[in-house]
Amino acid sequence: MKNPIADIISLFVPPLCPVCGAILLEGESCVCTRCKLTAPLTGYAHDVDNSLYRTFWGIVPIERASALFYFPSHESGWRRAIHDFKYRGHWRVARDFGEWMGHDLLASEVFLGVDVVVPIPLHPFKKLRRGYNQSDYIGEGLTRVLGVPLSVGNVVRTRHNPSQALTRGSKRWDNVRDIFAVRHPEKLAGKHILLVDDVFTTGATIQSCAMAILRSVPDVRISIATLATAHRD
Ligand SMILES: [Zn+2]
Repeated sequence: MKNPIADIISLFVPPLCPVCGAILLEGESCVCTRCKLTAPLTGYAHDVDNSLYRTFWGIVPIERASALFYFPSHESGWRRAIHDFKYRGHWRVARDFGEWMGHDLLASEVFLGVDVVVPIPLHPFKKLRRGYNQSDYIGEGLTRVLGVPLSVGNVVRTRHNPSQALTRGSKRWDNVRDIFAVRHPEKLAGKHILLVDDVFTTGATIQSCAMAILRSVPDVRISIATLATAHRD
């Protein structure tokens, strides 16, 4: 999964800000100071009743929901950074963003009491083609900061669904219904799960995954953390 050649190259190439391309200085992590100061942050981690949380009302019961920043609707460095860690092998960036999000959640008492981090799984074929699941790395970064275990491989995607961008309305729901399963429900029983994804777009995939877990696992509670959200207040 991890590329040893890329590891060696990274020893000689200075780390760059994935948003603006500036060389990261000592003490800077994930993005440069300028980008950190101008990031389109949501502040959701500090607001229990935020608008992302409200998108789950009446659909699936969750404890908390947060996204670190708004997904820009126009071309920007933030969109490129996500694209690069999703499709161009920059998985380290996903992990760094996960750590940043972990600090954001840790600074908020709203998310206290999470027991385990579960990344939204990709279908095995998709993961094989891409070489990794970017959400696994966001989850890894989160667990490094939150100090809770990462659970990969227990919640699985049993069906490949077509790109949601190609579908509209109720068809979108048909595409994500019953595509997730839990292989060992007993391992998650009684836990507070933090379900993690890269971008909240329609929410259908996350909602479907949360429903599958709630159906399979007794006494479980679920919270949601995505790196970015396309949903607007
Ligand atoms: Zn920057």
